[in-house]
Amino acid sequence: MSGEPPAPSGLRQPASAVLRPGTPLRALRCVRHTEREAVARCPVCGGSFCRECVSEHDGRLLCAPCLTREVAQARQPVRRRDWAPLRRAAGTTASVLVLWALFYFWGLLLVRIPPAFHEGRVWRSFEEANK
Ligand SMILES: [Zn+2]
Ligand SMILES: [Zn+2]
Repeated sequence: MSGEPPAPSGLRQPASAVLRPGTPLRALRCVRHTEREAVARCPVCGGSFCRECVSEHDGRLLCAPCLTREVAQARQPVRRRDWAPLRRAAGTTASVLVLWALFYFWGLLLVRIPPAFHEGRVWRSFEEANK
C-alpha cells in the first residue's frame, strides 16, 4: 500500500507487549475520551486508547480505525494468494498433459512401425526390391 507511511519495526508486537514497562501509560489519556485513562497503545498508529476504544485482532490490541484497515488489508492478499496455487496447479497439469500426449503419440508411432524395421530386415527387403 503506497498511501501508508512505513510502520516502524517496533510497532508490530503481540498484545502482551503493548503494556511494556517503562511506558507511562497511566499518565496517558484516551485520545477519544480525554477523561479516561489509556490502557493500551495501538501498535499501528501508536495512539493511546481506553479499554472501550481497542479491540483484539490477531493477538494485538488495535483501535477501531486501524482494525478496520487491517481487516480490509488482510482480505485482499488472501484473495490474491488463493489464486496463485490454482494457477500453478493448472500450469503443472497442462504441462503434464502435454508430456503425456507426447509420450502417448510417440508410443502409437512405435507400435505402428513394423517389427521388420526393428530387426533390420526392412533395409534388406528395400535393397532386394531395388535389385
Ligand atoms: Zn490505531
Ligand atoms: Zn476511549
